[in-house]
Amino acid sequence: MPFVFAPPQQPVVPIQDERYTFFPIHRVYGVAKNYAEPGTQVKDVPFFFMKAVDTVAPVAEGDCLSVPMPAHSQDVKHEIELVAALGKGGRNMTLEEAAEAVWGWCVGIDFTLGDQKMPSGANDITRAKNFERAAPVSYIRPAYRCPMPEPADLWLYVNNRKRQGGSTDHLILSPLETIVELSKYWELRPGDLIFTGTPSGAGSVQPGDLLKGGVNGVGSIEVKIV
Ligand code: MN
Repeated sequence: MPFVFAPPQQPVVPIQDERYTFFPIHRVYGVAKNYAEPGTQVKDVPFFFMKAVDTVAPVAEGDCLSVPMPAHSQDVKHEIELVAALGKGGRNMTLEEAAEAVWGWCVGIDFTLGDQKMPSGANDITRAKNFERAAPVSYIRPAYRCPMPEPADLWLYVNNRKRQGGSTDHLILSPLETIVELSKYWELRPGDLIFTGTPSGAGSVQPGDLLKGGVNGVGSIEVKIV
């Protein structure tokens, strides 16, 4: 088949402990406002968005990924998240189908720009969620090796100071419920990654900051802002 230029390589995420197996990415979904923090009365209403496939930047355990601060933002926020990796898809899926669809889990940082205002004053979600390396992820851990979706602790340190800590216990939509909801609006496919939301404490970073985050039982990730 002739192409007008060489087609881009299929974006992938490596699998933990398997040198020759890769997870090919189809789409990247995210859910925002998905944690009910202890002590709060009002539950947020979660909403969905997408990140471009080529914003995903896999980071091996023990490595540190450099993420350049976009020139058009002064407010880059870190969001540590549990990420589901789908091996099956579907439309209008049931919870049982969602459980069968999860191939594995990884840790992601959903970097978000807080200062991309539209004329209405609202944040432009497409600009906020999409820039180079806006979605660093750990290598994927197969579901049969993870105790998920049982409650797991998430944590993130910036320069060795704790910024985020939480538990997937406090998710409004569980990862499987998120898959069910997403499949009402889009046909999910094998290769989809789903960022499931972040607990409180998502704060701004500056060039030079070193971020270490993780989800217990899944993995950890290290990133430096440059
Ligand atoms: Mn997020």
